[in-house]
Amino acid sequence: MIGGGQLARMTHQSAIALGQTLRVLATADGEPAAQVTPDVVIGEHTDLDALRRVAAGAAALTFDHEHVPGALLDALVAEGVNVAPPPQALIHAQDKLVMRRKLADLGAPIPQFAEATSADDVDAFAQRIGGPVVVKAARGGYDGRGVTLARDLAEARDVTERYLADGMAVLLEERVALKRELAALVARSPFGQGAAWPVVQTVQRDGICVEVIAPAAGLDPEVGGEAEHLGLRVASELGVVGVLAVELFETTSGALLVNELAMRPHNSGHWTMDGARTSQFEQHLRAVLDYPLGATEPVAPVTVMANVLGAQELPDMAMDERLHHLFGRLPEAKVHLYGKSERPGRKIGHVNVLGAAGGSLSDDAYVADVRERAVRAAHWLSHAEWTDGWSGHG
Ligand code: ADP
Repeated sequence: MIGGGQLARMTHQSAIALGQTLRVLATADGEPAAQVTPDVVIGEHTDLDALRRVAAGAAALTFDHEHVPGALLDALVAEGVNVAPPPQALIHAQDKLVMRRKLADLGAPIPQFAEATSADDVDAFAQRIGGPVVVKAARGGYDGRGVTLARDLAEARDVTERYLADGMAVLLEERVALKRELAALVARSPFGQGAAWPVVQTVQRDGICVEVIAPAAGLDPEVGGEAEHLGLRVASELGVVGVLAVELFETTSGALLVNELAMRPHNSGHWTMDGARTSQFEQHLRAVLDYPLGATEPVAPVTVMANVLGAQELPDMAMDERLHHLFGRLPEAKVHLYGKSERPGRKIGHVNVLGAAGGSLSDDAYVADVRERAVRAAHWLSHAEWTDGWSGHG
C-alpha cells in the first residue's frame, strides 16, 4: 500500500486476519502504518524507484491516498505490477475535472460545472448558472483545501487567478443548496463482483468530516437504493478495483448529486469496522486480491462514527488516562487510535458507537442518543472534557 497513514494502518489490521502482510511505502518510520506492519519501505510516492521497491513481489499494489502521479503508475503497470485500482480508474479520484467530465458522460447527477482557463470564464459561468460559484483546484486538494465557496464574483475571480498562476487547472461549480452530505460506499473486484454498504450521512465542519451516521436516517429507501446502484455503476464503468467512495450532496429539494470520488478506504466507511458484517478495510483487500467480497449488511440499526480531532489546546491529561476514563463511562464505545501526535484539527482517531438491538433508524430520539454518545466520546478523547460537564469524581 502506498502511504503509511491511518488508512494503511487499519488495512493492515484486516490483512492480519486474512493471513496477509501489508507492506507499506511510508515517508518515515513513525507514520501510523509503519508503526504496526513489519514490512516497511521508506521513500516518497513520487519516486519511481521507491514505488518499484514496495511493489517487488507483491500480489497487488494499492493506495491509502491518491497522490501518486499517473505516469509512474503507468510505468509500474508496464513492468507487470498489478496496480489496483488501475491508473485509468484512479485518475477520476485524482483530477476533479476528469471526474466531472466522465460522470457527465455517464449521465450521473452532478452539479453544473465548467473549466476556467481565465478569470473571464468565471463571469461567463456565473451568468450561465445565475447563482454563487464554487472554485476548486482540479488536483491536490483534501479536507476542503483547494475548495473555495466564493462570497462573490470578485472572490471567485481572485481565487481562480491564484490557482491558475500556480499552474493548477480550475474547476468551477454551481454552489449547491445542501440539505446534508451523504456517501455511497461500494467495492468492486477484478472479477466484476460488486458490493455496497448502505448510504450514510457525513457531517462536515470546516470542510472536515466530523461524524458519520450509518445508515443515513430519514433517507427515502428508493433514493438510497439508487445511490447504491449509482456507486456500483460508476465502479464498474470506471474499472475500479477496491473500495470506491462516492461523496454525495442531498439538495434541499431531495435530489442527490455526486460531489467527488475516492478510490480507497474512506472516512465515511470507518463505521464498518464495528458496524457492518465486513469492514471496508477487509473488503478493500478482498477486492484487490480478487477474493469473493464480504457481506455488507449493518449489524446494528444505526452506527455512529465520530472523529477524534486534535484539540486547539492540547489537554494536560495523557491519552492513556483519557481512554481509561472513557471506558469507565462509556464501555460500549469502540475506539480506534492512529498513533499520531496531537495537532489542532488533525484526525488522530475515531470512535464507533452502535445503537442497541431493537432500536429503529426512524426513531429520532434513539438516533440522537447514539450520536450524542459517539460525539461525547470523541470530544472527550480530543479535549479531556465531557460535553455535558459530567465528572467521574462526583
Ligand atoms: P475535498 O477534495 O477537499 O474533500 P470537496 O470537493 O469534497 O473537497 O469539497 C469540500 C466541501 O466543500 C464539501 O464537503 C462541501 O461541504 C463543500 N462543497 C464542495 N463543492 C460544493 C458545491 N458545489 N456546492 C456546495 N458546497 C460544496
